[in-house]
Amino acid sequence: MRPICATISLSALRHNLALARARAPGSRVWAVVKANGYGHGLLRAVAAFDAADGFALVEVDAAARLRDQGCTKPLLMIEGFFSPEELAEYSARGLVAVVHNIEQVRMLEKSGFAAAPVAVYLKLNTGMNRLGFRGAEALRALERLRACASVSSIALMTHFAGADGESGVTEQLEQFRNLELDPSLPRSLANSAALLRYPETHADWVRPGIMLYGCSPFSDESAQALGLKPAMTLRSRIIAVQELQPGAPVGYGAIYTAREPMRIGIVACGYAHGYPRHAPGFNDRGTPIIVGGMRTTILGRVSMDMLATDITRIPQAGVGTEVTLWGEGLSADEVAAAAETLSYELLCALAPHVRVIETD
Ligand SMILES: *Cc1c(COP(=O)(O)O)cnc(C)c1O
Repeated sequence: MRPICATISLSALRHNLALARARAPGSRVWAVVKANGYGHGLLRAVAAFDAADGFALVEVDAAARLRDQGCTKPLLMIEGFFSPEELAEYSARGLVAVVHNIEQVRMLEKSGFAAAPVAVYLKLNTGMNRLGFRGAEALRALERLRACASVSSIALMTHFAGADGESGVTEQLEQFRNLELDPSLPRSLANSAALLRYPETHADWVRPGIMLYGCSPFSDESAQALGLKPAMTLRSRIIAVQELQPGAPVGYGAIYTAREPMRIGIVACGYAHGYPRHAPGFNDRGTPIIVGGMRTTILGRVSMDMLATDITRIPQAGVGTEVTLWGEGLSADEVAAAAETLSYELLCALAPHVRVIETD
């Protein structure tokens, strides 16, 4: 059996969803399961999030899979449909469509299908400047959707650009309020960061993603401090040990050089498994890793299927010793920060050929 393996804890997923609910007690929850459940497996995530009110995702084929598996909960498609054919699928499968551009409004107007009309979320651009309608355009789009026979219901949504950082949500919330759209329409605003820090954004439906998987949306507050439990733990083993003399280089490009006699452990995990190649392993800057229960750092460049770790001060470590790349005991947030990225990217990048063990 190859040593690399991701363990996914269903109880951690359930715990994190319960925490999201407890923090936004007045709201229904769209559990965000895009990108294969943030790398955790779509069906697995949906099963673990059984207590969610609905699921939010991007890919229509993933939504079709959920329906085929018997999922009857609301499914919110966060980029909406891309063609009239897809729109027909929304109608047939009962998918909720985010409508963020005028092409989608036109497709709805032209569809004229005899099948069931589609529930829509009108997406408002309040400052993210990615998707959605602004100002008077939002009002016009709303009027057209209201007049459209193929629309069964309308809700409003927006997405925050800075809920995780200093800029917060104030300006975007104000933009949202300034639109003065019909207050009787249901609203959904909050991602994980807004859910956790800004109760004023909770509204009718919250849309947590990253927190459900046990990572923190913030750089200044850890997942543990937030009470979240890591759902995915990526583990492997040491498959070789090298003894180095001072001056000896490590790995491709020799970006690390031993300054003292060292022992290094070669771990069966590399960028082909989803470990970030840019995780630093320089003499003055490393990336944390756990070897045999002890925290140390990686050394040198990450290879496709391997990386090196410093086990000089972990004498009991040798071939076969277990290594934790991220998860229990070492948050993916910490590894991501060292690699100048986010836990989101690490989790989503878990390669499909990595063996997964589900635990309760
Ligand atoms: C991904 C996404 C979310 C979830 O964001 P997190 O930061 O992972 O909580 C919520 N809403 C939309 C529209 C998204 O695309």
